[in-house]
Amino acid sequence: MTLTAQKPVALVAGGGGFVGSHLCDALLDRGMEVICLDDFSTGRRENIRPLANSPRFALIEASVTDLPPLALPRLDWVFNLASPASPRRYQQDPVRTVMINVLGTHHLLEVARKHQARFLQASTSEVYGDPEQHPQDENYLGHVNPMGPRACYDEGKRVAETLCADYMRAGSAQVRVARIFNTYGPRMCADDGRIVSNLISQALGNAPLTIYGDGTQTRSFCYVSDLVRGLVALMAHEGALPGPVNLGNPSEITILELADIVRKVTGSRSEVVLRPLPEDDPKRRRPSIDRARDLLGWAPVVPLRDGLAETAAWFSAQRLPGTRSGEGEVARAAE
Ligand code: NAD
Ligand code: UDP
Repeated sequence: MTLTAQKPVALVAGGGGFVGSHLCDALLDRGMEVICLDDFSTGRRENIRPLANSPRFALIEASVTDLPPLALPRLDWVFNLASPASPRRYQQDPVRTVMINVLGTHHLLEVARKHQARFLQASTSEVYGDPEQHPQDENYLGHVNPMGPRACYDEGKRVAETLCADYMRAGSAQVRVARIFNTYGPRMCADDGRIVSNLISQALGNAPLTIYGDGTQTRSFCYVSDLVRGLVALMAHEGALPGPVNLGNPSEITILELADIVRKVTGSRSEVVLRPLPEDDPKRRRPSIDRARDLLGWAPVVPLRDGLAETAAWFSAQRLPGTRSGEGEVARAAE
């Protein structure tokens, strides 16, 4: 570790991932020193490669399920983003997903306690499950099936929130909980199985757009720069917080409408094909962001069409090994 700790220092667990790498960029832009802790189980080294030469950036390759390294410089902020995030990835090894979220959060809360650092937990709209209240505000307690295939993630994140609340009540750490709603943008993995990565990959390859169920289920999509601005504002907030804070874009659309926009921004000829709806797939999701607006003055600003065009341009520029254009590979990864 070569950091000088002359500037404020942030530890970003999961900093090699999609959101985490954009967060590392934003913290460095604020003049901070950044330690990224990642095991690259779902993240990618390419995401942080441009940061490797910065004297204010350090990488620790480790799992949050192991005891954290003792030799850390004084930390000011600890962000916990370490967890698989897409249903395909978090269901691959569900027991490990629970352990990453429970044990990993405990380890990082302990780090924050010892360093008297502020702690931010990347929680999720999945704590609301398949919601019966619409839109979802932070007081809604959720509707999660604890035995279902999504429970490893939903319940893992819920227990992580419980740990945060208990550390806060005990006065052991200053904790912020961000409940993040569907976020998209450059550096998403083409093969993570999420709707935006699948649709864009498929559209670019003129492959069929896979829609699960009848496509009338809704989501509300937030561009990654908006989310990262919210995460930093929440961490930087000095006053007391009334509880968790939703961060997401309240513009709600159906999955069929999303497919249509993706087709337009990519100029694709792809047709839609219907596939079975996965078990426990939430029917509607839309955040109430009143709390984030009131506390942080935060609201998303990037329109969906613009964000999707940026994301598609980034996917299209990817060149995967062994291919000339990469597009065929990207489309196959999404199948
Ligand atoms: P991602 O998979 O790209 O990033 C997660 C990062 O955590 C990866 O770099 C991965 O390698 C790392 N990681 C996983 N397990 C680890 C472990 N045991 N030890 C150390 N590192 C580990 O996913 P993302 O979309 O960037 O999500 C980041 C965080 O935000 C996650 O905690 C996720 O639950 C949360 N979140 C994301 C979204 C979204 O739409 N992207 C929505 C809600 C919540
Ligand atoms: N989905 C789809 N086709 C795909 C991938 C996902 O229709 O190729 C649907 C999925 O069933 C869900 C929505 O799109 O209703 C969002 O899925 P994603 O995995 O991106 O996120 P989450 O379900 O966690 O919100």
